[in-house]
Amino acid sequence: MDYESFFSENIADLKSEGRYRIFADLERKAGDFPKALNHRPDGSIHEITVWCSNDYMGMGQNPSTLAAMHEAIDKCGAGAGGTRNISGTNHYHVLLEQELADLHKKESALLFGSGWMANMTALSTLGALIPGCIIVSDAKNHNSMIEGIRHSRAEKKIFKHNDVEDLDRFLSQYTPATPKMIAFESVYSMDGDIAPIKEICDVADKHHAMTFLDEVHAVGMYGPRGGGVAEREGLMDRITIIQGTLAKAFGVIGGYIAGSNAMCDFVRSYGSGFIFSSSMPPGVAAAAIASIKHLKEHNELRERHQERATTLKRRLTEIGIPVMPSISHIVPVLVGNAALCKQASDDLLYKHDIYVQPINFPTVDRGTERLRFTPTPLHTDDDMDHLVDAIREVWNRLGLKQAA
Ligand SMILES: *Cc1c(COP(=O)(O)O)cnc(C)c1O
Repeated sequence: MDYESFFSENIADLKSEGRYRIFADLERKAGDFPKALNHRPDGSIHEITVWCSNDYMGMGQNPSTLAAMHEAIDKCGAGAGGTRNISGTNHYHVLLEQELADLHKKESALLFGSGWMANMTALSTLGALIPGCIIVSDAKNHNSMIEGIRHSRAEKKIFKHNDVEDLDRFLSQYTPATPKMIAFESVYSMDGDIAPIKEICDVADKHHAMTFLDEVHAVGMYGPRGGGVAEREGLMDRITIIQGTLAKAFGVIGGYIAGSNAMCDFVRSYGSGFIFSSSMPPGVAAAAIASIKHLKEHNELRERHQERATTLKRRLTEIGIPVMPSISHIVPVLVGNAALCKQASDDLLYKHDIYVQPINFPTVDRGTERLRFTPTPLHTDDDMDHLVDAIREVWNRLGLKQAA
């Protein structure tokens, strides 16, 4: 086989479809978020405004987060030195797991290198080792859950997105004694809709199923202390396993699950992605602790965050831009064509110094290609004026779809 041609032909296919990914080369500016420097292919450097960061609250530059990270690096050095079992359990990891257990009001929490690893490892371990376990998964679940479920080789069923009746109908085929797990998210990050968590818990109780809730796009941002949508709705105690990331609203890196002592101990003891991967640097764990503590105590940041999102949705709608119906902090704008979506994103960057990446298949269905804006508490009214003017210009020039 001609391996090189195989690789380049497949890449050429992506390019001809307009969905070849080109990463913007950014240099983030601590203290000046959401501004960053953009290094362009022609060698020039431009200051831009980032409108698609998952550092949703700007915690990646928060002074308390940075101070904690500096202090821990000076105390403990750069890396953790091993897997958790082989000298890699630093005291900061222990404190961070306590902080996370407290955030979700669970007995325990367990850290992973990323949220992707947390989903992959927890779902694959539980699904593989609970005898005869059936996993029911929402149709719009994130890749990390899909991969975890696939890897578990457990029997899997996909239920219609957020459709509690479909879920109930499917689970009704099984006796209450059959082990089952419902895997879903709270905030779905591409559409910005939110799962009916209470109703899903009711169905879970009826069929004696476990619940596995990915709160990656909600932790730090919802609930009075940032515990997520389940905290906001008083439902944390009804979720068997809450999964989250430290890389989005908490602004650092890492992932976790929270739940009972026995469940966390089980995944700690049997999960390959936990056992065989070196632990996060102590400085990262210390930064995450500071960030979680800060967001627990600063509900006004969550209020400001929601206000910014609501304002942006309103302002874009006012000028006829097709904002998709989101009930969260995510502001998705429909383009509906992969090449045009990329063109709109390029024009915003190169003509207006605004960065929002195109979202194309397979992240979203074909025909629903979109730009996904994530206003943060740190985006000012001036930033928003600039964005709205730029979008108006690009929409008119490219003749993009208007709101219906
Ligand atoms: C980003 C994401 C993850 C993975 O989390 P990381 O910490 O980035 O690895 C998991 N679930 C969802 C829904 C995500 O969007």
